[in-house]
Amino acid sequence: MAANWKMNKLIREAEEYVEELLPKISGAEGVDVAIFAPFTCLPEVVRSTRDTAVLAGAQNFYYEDSGAFTGEVSAPMLLDVGAGVVIVGHSERREIFGETDEAVAKKTARAVSAGLLPIVCVGETKEERDAGSMWEKVSGQVRAVFEQVDAGGIGGEAIVFAYEPVWAIGTGETATPEDAQDAIGRIRGLLGELGGESFAEEVRILYGGSIKPGNVDDIMVQKDVDGGLVGGASLEVASFAELVNGAAMGSDDS
Ligand code: PEP
Repeated sequence: MAANWKMNKLIREAEEYVEELLPKISGAEGVDVAIFAPFTCLPEVVRSTRDTAVLAGAQNFYYEDSGAFTGEVSAPMLLDVGAGVVIVGHSERREIFGETDEAVAKKTARAVSAGLLPIVCVGETKEERDAGSMWEKVSGQVRAVFEQVDAGGIGGEAIVFAYEPVWAIGTGETATPEDAQDAIGRIRGLLGELGGESFAEEVRILYGGSIKPGNVDDIMVQKDVDGGLVGGASLEVASFAELVNGAAMGSDDS
């Protein structure tokens, strides 16, 4: 279960959040938890999660390692600060900041080669869904990644995907469990074509888009859904803890 704080929280707020969260999720066995913090409070999240199973991650980075790229942060810089995971190609990066499939693919390749675990976001807009081109869009985004990453050359544990329909992000509108399973099942099928069956089985694929404690269970029980990427509902400790603990109960049942 992954918390994407987006552009929220000051250092003190990050510290208080982690302090409050850790005891609340201490019984959640079998669930990997990651917090994707803004760069400014990432060192604090790294510090306060050290010696715990919670991973500290960044929301973005640039694929070059150093140089004249004002405003950017590189993979070695993230590793230097102690981050182990990074979101790549979030729809807000693609839609607001114009990140292309090629840039997302280069970032993914650099994360993998640097030893950072990328969570690669893919998903269609409302217009694309309504026009029946959801799969064309999503499969194109996935295929683009593997123009830069050799699926046969990395293990499935080296990359995570998140299916995040753009129309469901921050809108309160969630994909139906069937739609989430349909898209994620097809992504897994495509990963099988690109990297083989065992690669496809190993890759974790998350759903993201207006997940809340009240709507998560039906999505998480879907066959191919391995977890959630949570924006709004991760900003409050209580709701994120509920999502993590709910996922732990779900994993007990399976
Ligand atoms: C996200 O930021 O990846 C996300 C899914 O946001 P929200 O949960 O607010 O829709």
